[in-house]
Amino acid sequence: MAHSSEIELLGRLVGFNTVSSRSNLEAIDFIKAYLAGFGVESVIIPDATGTKANLFATIGPADRPGYVLSGHTDVVPVDGQEWSRDPFDMWRDGDRLHGRGTSDMKGFIACALAGIPAMLKEPLAAPIHLALSYDEEVGCLGVHGIIEHMAKTLPPQLAVFVGEPTGMGVVGGHKGSAGLLTTVTGKACHSSRPDLGVNAIFHAMDLMGELRSYANELRSAPEAGSPFDVPYTTVSVGVVQGGTARNAIPGDCAFQWDVRATSGGVVETLVERFRAFSDGKVVPAMKEGFAGSAVATNIAYDVPPFVPDAGSHAETLAKRFAGRNEVTAVNYGSEAGIFQSAGMSTILCGPGRDSEAHITDEWITVEQLERCVGFIDRLIDHARHA
Ligand SMILES: [Zn+2]
Repeated sequence: MAHSSEIELLGRLVGFNTVSSRSNLEAIDFIKAYLAGFGVESVIIPDATGTKANLFATIGPADRPGYVLSGHTDVVPVDGQEWSRDPFDMWRDGDRLHGRGTSDMKGFIACALAGIPAMLKEPLAAPIHLALSYDEEVGCLGVHGIIEHMAKTLPPQLAVFVGEPTGMGVVGGHKGSAGLLTTVTGKACHSSRPDLGVNAIFHAMDLMGELRSYANELRSAPEAGSPFDVPYTTVSVGVVQGGTARNAIPGDCAFQWDVRATSGGVVETLVERFRAFSDGKVVPAMKEGFAGSAVATNIAYDVPPFVPDAGSHAETLAKRFAGRNEVTAVNYGSEAGIFQSAGMSTILCGPGRDSEAHITDEWITVEQLERCVGFIDRLIDHARHA
């Protein structure tokens, strides 16, 4: 296959509407065919429904420890955004390339794919793997299948580079992100006879008050030396639903809450404490009015924090390849913490900026893509001699 530039490849990738709620298979098929054109085989790891898939490919000697270039193929929705042109038909305006996913994070994938000919030009001493996932934007669901595949078939890797938009800066940490749902079941009745029911909203308020006390407690004890803008774990309630009418005692209430943890294990501890409060105080009070009362808390997703690991192998290499000395932290979540929890030295470094991602007329500059190509070239050179 002829060599394609990262800009051409980015245009092709943006053309596949891979919003997380949709299938990403057309994009995966395109990448698979592109790699096959260079004689590179892909492993396709489908999800349970068969409508989405991860793609994993190896260039170089798979039996040796190597390097992983990690990206997600899905993008965030464009609903409610007034784009000036079709979000899935990339357009150029000066140095800027616009389209959904240009920055987050098809730009990085395009640079990695454009680097394939260079990876194949001379034998690599250490392999370079492409790990392209689905459903990152909705809780990092796909990457687990990639990590399982790697654990089963490959030796431990030397470093993982996750190409989320960092402006090609080196990012060594982010908080975890957990989404939880609590449902409160009481007993509905007419508001004139509250003695006959159990008000699920009132009891949900007690539960939310408990969460608020955790949030206040955490805020009052900021962590010294934390790399994060908000130097403590945060807890918040984002959605509350319940009730049917002003003059009815509500039988049901549900609320969605969010925990952004600075370190591992925090979510488990908070959930345990919350359940103890719920089971010890709230549920017994509800059962006095109605024996069938219940409170259930479920974790919808739990993306682990990416914990700063100063001087790690991945960090050292990324600083060298990116020509940067400083390592920072970001506010968004990513797959980095999942690779790290699986025991791999991991770093975030990719083209584009998070302020340019997820927005109307999302864009990336050609300059950022060029920097990323340079980064990957230096990785290839390193892998050749490693
Ligand atoms: Zn992303």
